[in-house]
Amino acid sequence: MDLQKDVRYLKGVGPARQRLLADIGIRTVYELLTYYPRDHVDRSHLKLIAQLQDQETTTIQATVVAHHPIYTRSRKKLLKIDLSDGTGTATLVCFNQFYLKDTLPQGRTIIVNGKFEKKTSPANAFEVTNFTYEVLSGDHEDLIHTGRIVPVYSVTQHLNLRFLRSLIRQALDEYRPALAEFLPPEIISGQSWLDWPRAIEYIHFPPSFTELELAKRRLAFTEFFILEMVLAVKHFKEQRLVKGNSYQLKKNLLTPFKQLLPFEFTAEQKKVIREIFEDMQSVHPLNRLLQGDVGSGKTVVSLCAMLLAVENGYQAAIMAPTEILAEQHFLYLERYLHDLGVKTALLTSGMDKKEYRQVKTDIASGQVQVAVGTQALLEKDVSFKRLGLVVIDEQHKFGVRQRLSLRGKGSQADVLVMTATPIPRSLALTLYGDLDVSTIGQLPPGRLPIKTYKLTEQEAYDFVKGQVSQGRQAFIVYPLIEESPNFTLKAARRMATDLQEKVFPEYKVGLMHGRLKVEEKERIMADFKNKKIDILVATTVIEVGIDIANATVMLIEHAERFGLATLHQLRGRVGRGSDQSYCLLVGEARTPEARSRIAAMLASTDGFKIAEQDLQIRGPGEFFGTRQSGLPEFKIADVVNDFALLSQAREMAFALVQADPYLRQQQHAPLKKFMIEAYGNSLNLIQVG
Ligand code: ADP
Ligand code: MG
Repeated sequence: MDLQKDVRYLKGVGPARQRLLADIGIRTVYELLTYYPRDHVDRSHLKLIAQLQDQETTTIQATVVAHHPIYTRSRKKLLKIDLSDGTGTATLVCFNQFYLKDTLPQGRTIIVNGKFEKKTSPANAFEVTNFTYEVLSGDHEDLIHTGRIVPVYSVTQHLNLRFLRSLIRQALDEYRPALAEFLPPEIISGQSWLDWPRAIEYIHFPPSFTELELAKRRLAFTEFFILEMVLAVKHFKEQRLVKGNSYQLKKNLLTPFKQLLPFEFTAEQKKVIREIFEDMQSVHPLNRLLQGDVGSGKTVVSLCAMLLAVENGYQAAIMAPTEILAEQHFLYLERYLHDLGVKTALLTSGMDKKEYRQVKTDIASGQVQVAVGTQALLEKDVSFKRLGLVVIDEQHKFGVRQRLSLRGKGSQADVLVMTATPIPRSLALTLYGDLDVSTIGQLPPGRLPIKTYKLTEQEAYDFVKGQVSQGRQAFIVYPLIEESPNFTLKAARRMATDLQEKVFPEYKVGLMHGRLKVEEKERIMADFKNKKIDILVATTVIEVGIDIANATVMLIEHAERFGLATLHQLRGRVGRGSDQSYCLLVGEARTPEARSRIAAMLASTDGFKIAEQDLQIRGPGEFFGTRQSGLPEFKIADVVNDFALLSQAREMAFALVQADPYLRQQQHAPLKKFMIEAYGNSLNLIQVG
């Protein structure tokens, strides 16, 4: 009795049906039994026709008594089928479905669900136009399909719902002995959960809706629990990895660096630096997520970690998702590293070929001590002499696989992941569940919370003028560089000219976008920094990393077009000095989602709250933008709404792995077998024990 058995061993499954089942991802009995219904219909209370109310949506069971084909003037064919259950008649009104004459011959008993309309006469006569039906076979099989709460599955054109339902019933009955509880007693005892066999049975054929809910809860917990087990095992293994090196605090770079810094670290920064240093000094690799809101000072923290690596004779690499962010990091780090005599280089695929080759050579020879780059650092032909630390900024745009790939470049290198988008705790637990987490929960002192307003364009322009006349600077962001015939959106290039000529003639307006050459971007940023430019018109290239303390206004045009995370990032470009800063949103929100995004921006400046909101609005898949995010897919569990269950599963899984990391105890044997069988390959589960 093996759940991994091919479905073709089930009665009624030949090669054709085997293929149809494979099309919806069902190859094994296990996959069949975990092909959960998309819905259930209540056929436990079938109505008699005589009991129907006018306009009632319900289900009846009746027999076909007559067909009335009708040819309308527009030559459309209309078929009326009379049904009777002995208490009255119900007529199916079928437009362009003449074939129903054959599917539903006289004498056939069917179940019909739909909205029944009472006819004026005779008594107990109803009509139904929008309906679904199911043919009964008249034998005991029908007990699966009627008289109960019945599962409805997603099927394809040739895969019949009724067949699938019967097949699942058959598999449930036949494989019952194989369906044993696999969660260990310490997990289930004291919980009011259904055991696994029962949960699997009830998710398909629940005796009542209450039991259906219990089944869903148990299965949702199981999905979370197994995932967290995988993460817990990974985490355990990572912790036991031994790196060849361990660092010592030499301080020959860190001390002069602190002296160069124009500020003191905040208490939170000190805390996370301590956490990171402790990991780096241990014999096990650092594997840590560093999160903190925009502007909380993560980059400086990562620089400390890089300096510790360099002090110890290792190379460090920092990888950013876009060229402009990599450049920004490079410029920021150079400011300090140059004075410290640390050799830094930038590597991006957009670079001049010759220069690119030179940088690669210098990285390979160990000449470059800190390499800053984009995905280019992941290229196969880029190799390091002695890579000790990898810093990954904006992790979610990379994905888990890339994270591992960069680590591979240094044997057991330390990995520090930074996210500029704070991640809701629920997602952090699933996506980064194998990482330790450090959080900077505080902005540097003296920063005033940014004030956010929704204004008309004219009001916003006047506001910008007010600020610029006081010597401040402003950003004006557009969603596009060029106007496009498909959109009626204002675009950055045209608007830069317009704004310069018509709106702000007395000030200097600059333009910045992604298609400019690196040197040009640098020159424009320098001009902005030196106040040669008062107002910088831009696209979202300035979303990340830009750091101009004197800029106090962020005007976002067509704010309805941007995602919440982007809006928050853009807003984070101001408020970096001690002056009050403002974020001005201009645009017309036409969809409910756009309205909620704007509302969320007006309501809060807290990145974590914003991220939670964003998750609510978009759902977890969209939140990370791409499928390659590595976000696991759950069939039943819902990361957002079942968060408490997820936390519970996580705690339990980590405690279990702590106590018995190789699942060697007798009571953990079924769990181990289950994990390896059901999730072994697809989840890439590291073999437990
Ligand atoms: P993040 O990467 O978290 O968005 P950054 O590291 O870019 O933040 O820091 C934002 C700005 O704040 C930078 O100009 C940085 O030099 C400055 N900064 C960092 N830490 C402090 C601090 N403790 N006090 C004052 N300014 C700080
Ligand atoms: Mg940053």
